[in-house]
Amino acid sequence: MVGALPKYQRQAGVDAWVVMPRYSNKWVESHSSEVVHRGVARMGHLWLNYEIHHVMDAGLGFPLYLVHVPGLLDRPGIYNDPHSGYGYWDEFERHLSFQLCALNWVRSFNRLPDILHCHDHHTALIPFLITSTHEYGMMDHIPTIVTIHNGEYHGNYDMGKLHYLPEIKYGQTGYLDWGGRMNVLSSGIRKAWKVTTVSHSYLKELQDSANGLEMLLRRESHKSIGILNGIDDEVWDPKSDPLINHHYDQKTVEKGKQANKMDLCEVFNLDADRPLISFIGRLVKEKGADLLPDLIGWVLSERDDVSFVVLGTGDPWLQDRFRGLSGSFTGYFDSSIQYNEALSRKIYAGSDFMIMPSRVEPCGLNQMYAMRYGTIPIVRSVGGLKDTVPDFESPDGGYGIRFDQFSIDDAHHAIERALGLYYRKQQFRKVRKSIMALDFSWKSAAQAYIDMYKTLIP
Ligand code: ADP
Repeated sequence: MVGALPKYQRQAGVDAWVVMPRYSNKWVESHSSEVVHRGVARMGHLWLNYEIHHVMDAGLGFPLYLVHVPGLLDRPGIYNDPHSGYGYWDEFERHLSFQLCALNWVRSFNRLPDILHCHDHHTALIPFLITSTHEYGMMDHIPTIVTIHNGEYHGNYDMGKLHYLPEIKYGQTGYLDWGGRMNVLSSGIRKAWKVTTVSHSYLKELQDSANGLEMLLRRESHKSIGILNGIDDEVWDPKSDPLINHHYDQKTVEKGKQANKMDLCEVFNLDADRPLISFIGRLVKEKGADLLPDLIGWVLSERDDVSFVVLGTGDPWLQDRFRGLSGSFTGYFDSSIQYNEALSRKIYAGSDFMIMPSRVEPCGLNQMYAMRYGTIPIVRSVGGLKDTVPDFESPDGGYGIRFDQFSIDDAHHAIERALGLYYRKQQFRKVRKSIMALDFSWKSAAQAYIDMYKTLIP
């Protein structure tokens, strides 16, 4: 989102910049940057010598500034230490150092920003830092927004870490406290001018289940809104995608998809005359990937006129189940246990249906990519899936297949309905064509954010 939204905001006339930590990863190291600022920020008893690097040649469509804090941020892992697979032991200090140094730099501008837009708990302390500490109080008038991408993670720490923060104004410490612990996201929700989530339904769901913050989200609902993420429709376009073998548009969709399907089925040893249902994504419970092995086994034990493909990586036991399933249903099911964007594009282009049985889905991109490539989504009615995929049999009209309960019976019924649609050729072609014309571009999402910003700026 942070890689796309600012590009479209800038096209709409907003001077959006992105500030991120300078990790030591391949991407950062392969792009040249210029040091535009050096400073010293205080974090408890530590003095942080930091630099701000302006990335020069990335072609991102927006200015990117990286905060370099030697010893804390310049590590290869982002959320987790790649060596251990777990978070870094000093995660709080890492996130805090980024926020302090970023604010320290911003404070030095001749003209302060009109808006500070913070993403998830990693940056959710900023509204508190500018309103509740003396050190950064000169920015307390700047409107802040906290966007929740994943409400499960709050940045939950022992109150003993409080000494790393700048001196807190009298009576303000309570904004950090949630149940006796420091809960960074809760402070962001309380202190930000606006709280947004990446879909409207996800906001509603968080008000019922947010790992302990549901009451707070209900209380702050007056300032909360859901804005659906978009997709980059210039990059994701079957008319020009360099990673697919046969290009097509709405007019040539039948021929184009069939040609891509034949190539794809050759890769996975499947019969291209059968309908093909695919899954792409992390093989984790959140995505409902654990429902798939039994579901696919059930469908294939009953009928031999459908094929399935799975592309993903994740929980080792699930990876093994998919490998095993390929052996049991050779010629009808195959999996590729890897992260491979080129293959994912070929699957979007060559499949008839894309299944997403997610337990939780804040927004979800796959269903939007799938529709752009004329692949009909079969989704559970949750979060962003609910907001983007109305059922083709709903009274108000729609174009996807939805099921409500997270159960193998409901998912099975959805697949039966999908296959029914596949064999009603005229209706199937009509749905397929219509989904390719839908607009899920960032343009409208960017405008929604801009409209919200305008309500905050005098
Ligand atoms: P999340 O960010 O929760 O994993 P999203 O639906 O928002 O889910 O985005 C997932 C993105 O990652 C999609 O673009 C999807 O195509 C891509 N993706 C996930 N797993 C793989 C994989 N194994 N190979 C290629 N692309 C993948």
